[in-house]
Amino acid sequence: MIDLSSLTIKKAHEALVRGEYTVRELVNAYLDEIRARDGDIHAYLEVYEDVMAQADEAQKKVSAGNLLAGIPMAIKDNMLLEGKVATSGSKILTGYVAPYTATAVQKLKDAGVVFLGRTNMDEFAMGSSTENSAFGVTKNPHDTSRVAGGSSGGSAAAVAAHLALASLGSDTGGSIRQPASHCGIVGLKPTYGSVSRHGLMAMGSSLDIIGPFTRTVSDAETLFNALKGKDRYDSTSIDVSMAGPFRKKIGIPRRFLTNGGIDADVVAGFEAAIARYQSLGYEVCDIELPHIEYALAVYYVLMPAEVSTNLARFDGMRYGLHKEGMDLMGDYLLSRGEGFGREARRRIMLGSYVLSSGYYDAYYNKAASVRELLKSDFAKVFSDVDIILTPTTPAPAFKIGEKASDPVAMYLEDIFTVTANLVGIPALSVPAGAKKVGNTQLPFGIQLMASHEREDILFSAGKDFMGE
Ligand code: GLN
Repeated sequence: MIDLSSLTIKKAHEALVRGEYTVRELVNAYLDEIRARDGDIHAYLEVYEDVMAQADEAQKKVSAGNLLAGIPMAIKDNMLLEGKVATSGSKILTGYVAPYTATAVQKLKDAGVVFLGRTNMDEFAMGSSTENSAFGVTKNPHDTSRVAGGSSGGSAAAVAAHLALASLGSDTGGSIRQPASHCGIVGLKPTYGSVSRHGLMAMGSSLDIIGPFTRTVSDAETLFNALKGKDRYDSTSIDVSMAGPFRKKIGIPRRFLTNGGIDADVVAGFEAAIARYQSLGYEVCDIELPHIEYALAVYYVLMPAEVSTNLARFDGMRYGLHKEGMDLMGDYLLSRGEGFGREARRRIMLGSYVLSSGYYDAYYNKAASVRELLKSDFAKVFSDVDIILTPTTPAPAFKIGEKASDPVAMYLEDIFTVTANLVGIPALSVPAGAKKVGNTQLPFGIQLMASHEREDILFSAGKDFMGE
């Protein structure tokens, strides 16, 4: 029996190299767990049929130094893997088969990762609970009456429930960090452009990034090192430097955090995290981010604008679902009306509105200007501190259905996470405690943000905090 509950990429790699078990045996252990538990959790939309063939291929790549060979992972349903269905959690992509493989996925494949399957998500990555998936909700492994978070809820739940050793998610406004926090695992949103978006279905192109879910910070580092790098298929991609001073100095945006609305246990856990960093020799000070209170509003103007543009390509002609109307316009209306869920339609409307002539200046342009102010606020603060620390979410996981009919309450989930996407900086969520509710412990995380291309700082500080 392989003990999956304490397994990390590092440990599995060492065991595979020592020959303690084979890749097949490791993969089988995860498949058994999926069969036993995923009926309740619904992390996966599909488990791939060819996993054993992948395992045999990967076995040949197992060697010291080849850390990812034979590691069983899951990918979010908005990433392409050639020959496999990818639906982005949407009915409009029913039956869509990927014609090529996303660069990030290809890099892992080349390293010998075994892909177990694709995971559930909010439709086109829009949401914070996976309740917007067209294929049912993913449940939190710590309490199945609660959400796993979103939009990458399936990828987070898979890792938390030991249904995969690690997974990939995408983060446009918090979709890796928030579910990582709700599921009690590590989630990294890398610097914008550091991981190629080629083969990732676009939500908000100036915000989107692929990143890993893992059980330790070291594992997140291993995956980031495999994923990163400039890609000829994504002109916005870059090679990150990960170099510069690290003064072990943490800034706390106190004023922003004392506006209320944060769960008392999350506040206590956050304060304990600060104390822990101080005891580890970090210097902690208060900082001012004058425009941060506008970040959520800016995000919910700019993001739908990009969504409305990106989702225009799903017209019922080119991909997936096609409905026959009276004429071409009828085809569009029927296909899009039936193919998209409520949240997707809401954001298409919002985005079309803020981009329409007459409102463009008042909304889109204004938000784009405030985004620039946010960037300069952050640049200023990072000249003095290395890390900005906040809770990842205002509260632990909420009940399924609790916020489903109140989009604004749902959007408030993202209050601490959206800014990193607007500014383009890397951010890491690590588990920082749990709130006891009845008989269950609901995990929550803290978020570490660093300057552009300084993932190295997040990894050092994250490992200092977690121990690995
Ligand atoms: N929850 C946020 C939203 O609904 C973030 C989504 C994401 O990062 N993909 O937009």
